[in-house]
Amino acid sequence: MGNASDIIKVGRFAPSPSGRMHAGNVFTALISWLSVRKAGGRWILRIEDLDPQRSRQEYARLIEDDLHWLGLDWDEGGLSDAGAHGPYSQSERGELYEAALSRLMATGRVYGCGCTRADLRDTEAPHASDGRVIYSRKCKPEVMPCYEPVASGKSLRLWVDDESVTYVDGLYGERCVNLARECGDFVLRRADGAWSYQLAVVVDDALMGVNEVVRGNDLLDSAAQQIYLYRLLGYEPPRWMHLPLVCNGQGVRLSKRDGAADMGALRARMTARELVGYLAYMGGLLPEPIACEPRELIGEFDVSRLPRTRSIRLTI
Ligand SMILES: [Zn+2]
Repeated sequence: MGNASDIIKVGRFAPSPSGRMHAGNVFTALISWLSVRKAGGRWILRIEDLDPQRSRQEYARLIEDDLHWLGLDWDEGGLSDAGAHGPYSQSERGELYEAALSRLMATGRVYGCGCTRADLRDTEAPHASDGRVIYSRKCKPEVMPCYEPVASGKSLRLWVDDESVTYVDGLYGERCVNLARECGDFVLRRADGAWSYQLAVVVDDALMGVNEVVRGNDLLDSAAQQIYLYRLLGYEPPRWMHLPLVCNGQGVRLSKRDGAADMGALRARMTARELVGYLAYMGGLLPEPIACEPRELIGEFDVSRLPRTRSIRLTI
């Protein structure tokens, strides 16, 4: 066995092909890529197309084209499925999620929930500080484990313990989340058969050997749910680094409907080097927005320079 310094850093970029990438997606990709390249590690491109209604192959192709344009190369994955851990599109990984679900069912913690969206909205359960509904456990059988087969048309939920999960984020430091009180029993598979983000992301990152996850801080607290799944499935959790969300000039978080900051608009008005330099400047990696290529930033890349604010504002 080697020591920790022998472990190769494996990062990933996992966009949803539900629209053109925007500056926030590119910021996440750039930081993850720099962190991996600085450590001489491997970078994976995974297509998170779990939602068949919103995912389009043409957007996945545009994601690849935009990454090429930016100068962000990947070692595994993408639409060509190159690498030893494929397939790299979530829509083709259903058997792997199914296998993980079976193992979770064997722990006696999974139960069927027939509540509709309206039921959940009307629930008497307390609300989390951010307005999320904590599921009231209305459908949880009194005696667990429940060995009754789950009728179709029900979602599957994971019964979580009333315990705190602690982890250290690479940017925001130590976090502590009580699952039962702050998240509640969460969905693993929706009533329509779609896999939840929580289950898919854990299975994918674990099986692909990902040990560093860089993503937006809207997912900061969901790491606790994922740690819980890692433990139940017997996998080693990765290190997380959650980044400030990129907002537009009005302070509103960028979304795929925000055409002004999407890659189509950005590519029409600036060069790749200008965009990379600007994002690096926003991320504290450059003292001013000097046009440059991603590889020119590898040597000086330092996580401690990244801003620890909740958001950063785009001014281009
Ligand atoms: Zn229910």
